[in-house]
Amino acid sequence: MKNEQSLNNLARQAAQQRVLPPHNLAPATVGFSTQGHLLITGSEDMIRLAADQLQDMASITLLCTEAIQNTDNAHIEQALAAAATLPAYQTKIEAVKGFLGQFQVSIRHEEQSIELAKLAQNRATFDLILNLGKNSLFTTELAPAGYFHIAPDADNFSDVIQQLPEYIGEFEKPRYFQVNQDICAHSNRGQTGCTRCLDVCPANAISSIKDLISIDPYLCHGAGGCSTACPTGAITYTLPKPTRLLDYLHKLLHAYKEAGGTQPALLLHDHEQGQQIVTELLAQLPGNIIPIQLEELAAAGQEIWLSALAAGVSHILLLDTPTLPESMRALLTREVRLTQIMLSGLGYSESRLQIIDREQLNGNSLELINSLLADQLNSHERINSPELLNSPEPANNSLAIDITTPTTTPAAMPEQHDNKRDVLFAALDQLIAQAPAHESTPETPPLPAHLTLPAGSPFGQVSIDPSSCTLCLSCVAVCPTQALTSGGEKPALNFTEQNCVQCNLCERACPENAITLEPRLLLSDTRKQAVEIHADEAFECITCSMPFAPRRTIDKMLDKLSEHRMFQGAAINRLKMCADCRVKDIYTDLNQHPEKQLEL
Ligand code: SF4
Ligand code: SF4
Repeated sequence: MKNEQSLNNLARQAAQQRVLPPHNLAPATVGFSTQGHLLITGSEDMIRLAADQLQDMASITLLCTEAIQNTDNAHIEQALAAAATLPAYQTKIEAVKGFLGQFQVSIRHEEQSIELAKLAQNRATFDLILNLGKNSLFTTELAPAGYFHIAPDADNFSDVIQQLPEYIGEFEKPRYFQVNQDICAHSNRGQTGCTRCLDVCPANAISSIKDLISIDPYLCHGAGGCSTACPTGAITYTLPKPTRLLDYLHKLLHAYKEAGGTQPALLLHDHEQGQQIVTELLAQLPGNIIPIQLEELAAAGQEIWLSALAAGVSHILLLDTPTLPESMRALLTREVRLTQIMLSGLGYSESRLQIIDREQLNGNSLELINSLLADQLNSHERINSPELLNSPEPANNSLAIDITTPTTTPAAMPEQHDNKRDVLFAALDQLIAQAPAHESTPETPPLPAHLTLPAGSPFGQVSIDPSSCTLCLSCVAVCPTQALTSGGEKPALNFTEQNCVQCNLCERACPENAITLEPRLLLSDTRKQAVEIHADEAFECITCSMPFAPRRTIDKMLDKLSEHRMFQGAAINRLKMCADCRVKDIYTDLNQHPEKQLEL
């Protein structure tokens, strides 16, 4: 084993030297411009003491929002003498928005809501905000660039005061995302469907404007959660693009294998704290663990993990760090559980995808755990339970890197695709084809027809209540992924399960409440085919005999409109005519009875 580990170590080094990470040398950027107009908020003693140390700013506005924190006489005397020439406004903030170079702060002044920058500096905005109050001025998990909050008990006062003048000048930030509205499942015809990106953004940088998803690149921190949560691939992370990341992984794994490495496991980590931990611990890590630096941990999701596993990677480890935003941790936990449920359902060990922390990367415990769990990959227990996603983390959350048991998956990346959904299903198809559960034994029952997935999963089927559906095709009109299509000439509804992201748009658009969604993963190729899920007899025009509508639709109209004054007597028969014959019939009638024009 020692020999194998040193071989893997050498193979890892060789692969990392040969294949360079996909750094984006000239990413698209957004610019910020600041001159140093600073607003300081908080208690008067603290804002004056801070202002006294910030002489290099273009202007300082003091806004006193809370009572003095330290009532010691000497402290108050010193504070009131500091920045003594600056007036301090005393009022509450009504609203604050913006980012570095563009902060707008509204306050209540003489019974009116006014912009503080205009009042204090005759400017439209502030460049920077330093908040020394107890509570943040922003409710988002990640505040915008240019906003600094030092709570009274924080110990970073001097550091921030020192840093602030560095925020004067011109700055650039990458545009982390591209949005393809054509495949977004957010909204259609007044109905709201998918809101997954809106729900996870920790910076409130995503909004729904006139039913379209929009990302504010100035507020965006590039945390990556929206692209990982997006079921259609409408949001693509650009640092790097998933196709480039997959290409890099493919080349790296190939180089590792060529250099004699075995059982590669990937350790995904972010470029800051994660990179520091990996740099510190790399020498202790088993040689088969290959670190992969991402811009942010949440920037790679299910399609990347599954592609790597399908390519023969034995384990994927996501390195959690204290700086990972809580919303991103929750998202990754949910996505990892969903993927584990899929893996378990196919007979793979769910330990092949894990979130770990620094402690679990400790070399000694790793060796111990390896020896205890050396047969991890042979346990083909199937866990196919929707409760799993909501269940707490498994009691044994120790790191289980099996470096002795061969994986059953092939060492080749699945076929490459541009579309997220295609990438994901190419990987799943490969994993299904190689699934241990194919080898049915008393311990490993055969593959089921489908895996039941937790509520909210972006995979599943649509069921139609045939007694309610009139085949009005409202659902087809709103479906953003062409999962639902019409039967063409035939009054029918077709469904392609692989395309369905369970966005709910069809369910909400259906006037008859005839649609229900069921999250699941269909394992057979039927998933890729358009299957007829409802059909009706065609109603033939009573005049020209052309089939023109589903029979149930006409029956329903006859039933609903039989009492209407416009459809009394022979006129009710017009509902049984195609559009052309109906128009002809109306004009013939009006020619014969011109007085009827007055009734229209
Ligand atoms: S499809 Fe993607 S971009 Fe559209 S709302 Fe859902 S998560 Fe957001
Ligand atoms: S079939 Fe319904 S739930 Fe599925 S993608 Fe289309 S509109 Fe959304």
